[in-house]
Amino acid sequence: MAEFILQSKKLVKTYKIDSPSPVYAIRGVNVKLKKGEFVALMGRSGSGKSTFLHQLALLDVPTSGYIEINGVDVSKLTEKERSKFRLQVLGYVFQDYALIPELTLYENIALPMMALGLSRGEYDSDVREIIRRVGLTGREGNVPSELSGGEQQRVSIARAIVNKPEILFADEPTANLDSEAAKAVLEVMRELVDKYGQTIIMVTHEQDDRKYVDRVIWLKDGLITEDK
Ligand code: ADP
Ligand code: MG
Repeated sequence: MAEFILQSKKLVKTYKIDSPSPVYAIRGVNVKLKKGEFVALMGRSGSGKSTFLHQLALLDVPTSGYIEINGVDVSKLTEKERSKFRLQVLGYVFQDYALIPELTLYENIALPMMALGLSRGEYDSDVREIIRRVGLTGREGNVPSELSGGEQQRVSIARAIVNKPEILFADEPTANLDSEAAKAVLEVMRELVDKYGQTIIMVTHEQDDRKYVDRVIWLKDGLITEDK
């Protein structure tokens, strides 16, 4: 087994690389993450946090550099293998929840299981267990508009972890929430780490969020300036 669940080496992402004014969003980032770590990525707006997260979560392709996840050099994957890897090994939570409004809470969470071709009999107990972990038992039949922002974000976390991903990525998951709802979301994530050994990388600009995490990595102008 690899010593680190995730590693990046000299990771670079340059946007508009062929234009007269390229954007050097990340400029050579090295990071090593252990299983079961809860890491916050912090830094000012424009420092490259989302770009870095997108590269690590395989939502984008870096300009250069190396990413290894679970011992796999992800640059070696074909497009098809990459999609499968993303679906089976990684989970992603968006700031705006990105739930499907017509589907119930239960159906939203079951979606990744359906995408893997499983039948309800195969995923039902897993889906119910995950709903319990995020504290939403009893709300299975509600559609997103019947849930608060904090509840919707917990549905989005549940959907991201239902396939038991090795790593959960979250980009400013509490940015749209009031402080009470944000606290509930962060407590859910902390519990996933403590009880189930989930590895989480979360982008945030909230200073207060630091008390929930094990490690804070600061980015400035596309480079790590502090890691502790
Ligand atoms: P953060 O998440 O820390 O606010 P981003 O990673 O979103 O920072 O952005 C880093 C830099 O890259 C910024 O200068 C931003 O304008 C630029 N950028 C981000 N995405 C794109 C894109 N798709 N095309 C061009 N420039 C981008
Ligand atoms: Mg961002």
